[in-house]
Amino acid sequence: MSQTARLGPTNEPPRLQLGDMRITLLDGGHLWLDGGAMFGIIPKPLWSRLTEADEQNRIPLAMTCFLVEVGGKTILVESGAGPTSKYHEKEQDIFRFAEHSIVDSLAAIGVEPPQIDMVILTHLHFDHAGGGTTAAGDGGFVPTFPRATYVVPRGEWDDAVHGHAVMTATYRTENLGPLEAAGVLSFVDGVADLVPGISVRPIPGHTRHQQGVVFSGGGRTLVLPADLMPTSAHLGLPYNMAYDLLPLENMTNKQQLLDECHAGGWQLLLGQDPQHVLFDLIRDDRNRYRLHAANDES
Ligand SMILES: [Zn+2]
Repeated sequence: MSQTARLGPTNEPPRLQLGDMRITLLDGGHLWLDGGAMFGIIPKPLWSRLTEADEQNRIPLAMTCFLVEVGGKTILVESGAGPTSKYHEKEQDIFRFAEHSIVDSLAAIGVEPPQIDMVILTHLHFDHAGGGTTAAGDGGFVPTFPRATYVVPRGEWDDAVHGHAVMTATYRTENLGPLEAAGVLSFVDGVADLVPGISVRPIPGHTRHQQGVVFSGGGRTLVLPADLMPTSAHLGLPYNMAYDLLPLENMTNKQQLLDECHAGGWQLLLGQDPQHVLFDLIRDDRNRYRLHAANDES
């Protein structure tokens, strides 16, 4: 398989091998968001060259999750929005959610929720953290992955529970409270090595404390910048989202990360790109960066 269209469940998900670490790219569902909001100050004649909008001006976004097997641990990075049953009919209409969620994609490869040891969330917006809790059947919610430690930036948690956001509705109580009540949260402050080969680092901009995830092994490094650059259409520095709390910081940190990726020969994992996940970063002879979709079965 060369490239993988990300919208819709796949029978055999792509896998990446980094030394002893195996990363399976899993379809955590998809949603559609307003194209104008997704590109902030960029006028539609420019962004519409990069992605096509539907009749309601929405563009498709994947919610790719990453199942990492390393050192005897099974780790899930990102959780998508969770099942559509967590959303009101009106929200389902607005966001045009996929029917399937991360639990379905895990089941398709024979992984049950109790097998997950750790869940790493880049930030707590509903399309990243929603899969982390599940309806308990009594009107309440519980952690979807009952044995897992949920790794979250401490500042992101504080901003989420105190509503420090431009869209406070994205920090949903049913995605936060059950994790705290179950005592499964593990907060990180700044750069941290979580297990050999996986580290997190702050990449402020989209939120004040969003974290990126760096995977290293077998002489290869991949970085997941999350909503610093959710799709390949967000490569340009001013291509920020209206949802970003700190657009200027997002631009600065995007530039720094791209420079670091290029210098180190790192590849990028863009979790919300609707067509591809793994990208090579190329710098042309005019010093402009380009992304090339890479073979995601390697
Ligand atoms: Zn976000």
